[in-house]
Amino acid sequence: MKRRTAEPYKIKAVEPLKMLNEQERKEALKKAGYNTFLINSEDVYIDLLTDSGTTAMSDRQWGTLMTGDEAYAGSKSWYKLEQAVKEIYGYNFVIPTHQGRGAENLLSQMKIKEGDYVPGNMYFTTTRAHQELNGATFVDIIIDEAHDSLYDHPFKGNVDLSKLESLIHEVGAEKIPYVCIAVTVNLAGGQPVSMKNMRDVYELCQKHGIDVMYDATRCVENAFFIQEREEGYTDKSIKDILKEMFSYSDGCTMSGKKDCLVNTGGFLAMNDEKLYTRARELVVLYEGMPSYGGLAGRDMEAMAQGIYESIDDNYIKHRIHQVRYLGEQLIEAGIPVVKPIGGHAVFLDAREFLPHLKHEELPAQSLAAALYLDSGVRSMERGIVSGGRNKVTGENNKPKLELVRLTIPRRVYTNNHMDVVADSVISLYEKRDQISGLKMTYEPPTLRFFNARFEPLSPSGELMTNETSSTTT
Ligand SMILES: *Cc1c(COP(=O)(O)O)cnc(C)c1O
Repeated sequence: MKRRTAEPYKIKAVEPLKMLNEQERKEALKKAGYNTFLINSEDVYIDLLTDSGTTAMSDRQWGTLMTGDEAYAGSKSWYKLEQAVKEIYGYNFVIPTHQGRGAENLLSQMKIKEGDYVPGNMYFTTTRAHQELNGATFVDIIIDEAHDSLYDHPFKGNVDLSKLESLIHEVGAEKIPYVCIAVTVNLAGGQPVSMKNMRDVYELCQKHGIDVMYDATRCVENAFFIQEREEGYTDKSIKDILKEMFSYSDGCTMSGKKDCLVNTGGFLAMNDEKLYTRARELVVLYEGMPSYGGLAGRDMEAMAQGIYESIDDNYIKHRIHQVRYLGEQLIEAGIPVVKPIGGHAVFLDAREFLPHLKHEELPAQSLAAALYLDSGVRSMERGIVSGGRNKVTGENNKPKLELVRLTIPRRVYTNNHMDVVADSVISLYEKRDQISGLKMTYEPPTLRFFNARFEPLSPSGELMTNETSSTTT
């Protein structure tokens, strides 16, 4: 008999959800221009837009609302955070920042010179933007398999060492201020990096005198995959695995809004004292004193507490299993999703889901809109709309992957909510030929996916083509 497991927490405070009826959802969707970013969160039943800052804090974290020390300098909440990072991540020095991109800004400014190259295992939007802003060229060194949505690989976030080596030979180690390794890789679908790969990258970089800096945003999720899949780690604790992971790096940037289990916060950490001294000077300009970095005392204390809670083996096991619980129901029903299921989200392959739509008819945007209409579940388009336009030709960039991301917030929803999501996706799949494409009616010049507006292409003007406006009163 297969024994079932449940959430490793009980619910102490509840936030009631509004459940709109179909007609109300239809109106809300129209009002939002068929863009899930523009729907009021009040009108959403299950919100899978992002896992960033959407975590449910624990009772102990909420307790820090009262125990946080709000002193301008030398706050004891800062010392708690510093202690937690040193103890769990193992770095010598820590600088708090308001969120992950604050740390990225400091790191890029300190280390990058005009004309440098920063290799990374696939990019992340803000990370790459800060590198480029400081004059670097980003070079993708992830294994080729990461770009294939159906290729099953246990560590699809791995670095291709030969790609890194040829870059070093081509441009010279002095042109590479650091290698940026994301653990896990968000844009590849939350895919992990193996311990062996981290070790190999570090060895190679040490040989050439190049620093390795992690984007540690989802490092606990990465540690879980190592525990689950890599030989020699099954019996090691998440805490020990994390320590070893970080020993193969010289520092990291961290978005606390993900694996540190808080609603806002971040930090920059490193082992080099010279770099730390410069960071202490620079953080004052952009974030605040090195003892608060743009955060309230209670934010820092909540993050310290969150760091300790995040390494609880039961917590992280449930977290990854919940994402997989949703993903496997969809796979069983034959729904096209990115494989294997990653750490923080399930990605629907919208071109496979809606083969009757041309790429210009915005399959992922249409599917995200249809999902909200069907059940009030909010997801995010990651495809041609997010891809934007080519700066030179003005043509739409056509990314290889046209995806709808169902991102699971930490500790917020139960597996019953996952069932509702799965049922909705499956029922949409059964009537997928009725989902109309969309056209863009308003296109902002930058980061268009946030504010763009759309209309259905169907003759009736409805998103579901079996319906006409007169029958839906
Ligand atoms: C969210 C995120 C960041 C940026 O962090 P913010 O806290 O949003 O500024 C950087 N890297 C990755 C992989 C992320 O997911």
